[in-house]
Amino acid sequence: MLKWLMSVAAIAAMALGTHAPAVAAGTAAKPRMVWDPIPFGPAREAQMAAYVRRHYGSFMKPTWRLVDPHVIVIHYTDASYSSTFNTFANDVPDSELHELPATCAHFVIDASGVIHQLVSLQTMCRHTVGLNWTAIGIEHVGFSDAQVLGDTRQMRSSLRLVHWLQCRFNIQTRNVIGHAESLSSPYHHEDVPSLRTQTHSDFVHRDMQTYRARLRHLGGC
Ligand SMILES: [Zn+2]
Repeated sequence: MLKWLMSVAAIAAMALGTHAPAVAAGTAAKPRMVWDPIPFGPAREAQMAAYVRRHYGSFMKPTWRLVDPHVIVIHYTDASYSSTFNTFANDVPDSELHELPATCAHFVIDASGVIHQLVSLQTMCRHTVGLNWTAIGIEHVGFSDAQVLGDTRQMRSSLRLVHWLQCRFNIQTRNVIGHAESLSSPYHHEDVPSLRTQTHSDFVHRDMQTYRARLRHLGGC
């Protein structure tokens, strides 16, 4: 019955020309989230497009827009929510690679499980070298993989958010990766030679196997 109702809804959506994603019929429910935007005006958009020209210019036109994302990258912050927000909001060169625009992630899930959306899903963020051109970034407030994986409220929000994004953009579970897995993604491309092996240590393969197994328990779309 539920399936029948959903297919009627899908047909109605198509007839109305409204949201009709090219994914399997049915969707995951959108989790509750708080819109907590960082400033991302024309200057930062231009910096993002220039970043794309420098790092991905060999295979795509410079743009600050995130189009048809194929990957979701899981991170932890190593900092509090407010500190993370300020780092992302303050558009100065980042402390590691000294580039503009400032780093950011689309979502930050705090320790109580509240999902904060900081950036539109149609805008690129710098969160993972080699993958920013096609990846949605999700940060978790915490200081280790184990801490995040062991936090029931944070994990429930995380899995619901990722499942919803997977259904919305047709992203496969194998492309839900930890930052530490970035170099082995088939979507990893980096034009700057010195950055081709650059990655971070958050969410290693073993811990992402746990995360992906939990995700698969949520079922299909
Ligand atoms: Zn990271």
